[in-house]
Amino acid sequence: MTINSEIESAAQRLLDAHRLSSLPVAVEEVAKKAGINLFPFDLGVDVSGVLHITNGVANIGYNPNESKVRQRFTIAHELGHFTLHHGSERVFVDNENYYQFIMFRTTNLASKDLKKEQEANAFAAALLMPQAIVKKEIQAYNGFDFSDSTMINELAKKFEVSTQAMSYRIINLAENNLL
Ligand SMILES: [Zn+2]
Repeated sequence: MTINSEIESAAQRLLDAHRLSSLPVAVEEVAKKAGINLFPFDLGVDVSGVLHITNGVANIGYNPNESKVRQRFTIAHELGHFTLHHGSERVFVDNENYYQFIMFRTTNLASKDLKKEQEANAFAAALLMPQAIVKKEIQAYNGFDFSDSTMINELAKKFEVSTQAMSYRIINLAENNLL
């Protein structure tokens, strides 16, 4: 998949605005500083996250029963909708499918939603695993082995993301000659 430089920049601008450059990226802090209310809330079966904007107030609900890395990805994903799709829709509900889409590239989603979900996932990846920092971390290995799951696991821990999200991000950046 190609890297969307506008989405990369949008995520980076958000991090820069709040001077957040240490790992793991403090995604809850990013959301709060963007003026968004966060609600850990059991959203029902399969629902990972919700973005709801009403009277100019933005709320993100996320499922606290899911793993920590998943919760972080969900918040980042909803932040992506907030940043990129703010004007067009007021409510986003994200179920199992959005996550599956990036991880397993399923096509369960209606095609009109695919682009937005893809964009929100790209934003989440860029926010949680900023390009420049991933590059620096990879270079620090002095010979990063893409097939070495130990190295991927180490980085996933550092960025506090799932190993799938980490390896997907690294492969994606590498494919686009950005590492
Ligand atoms: Zn979504």
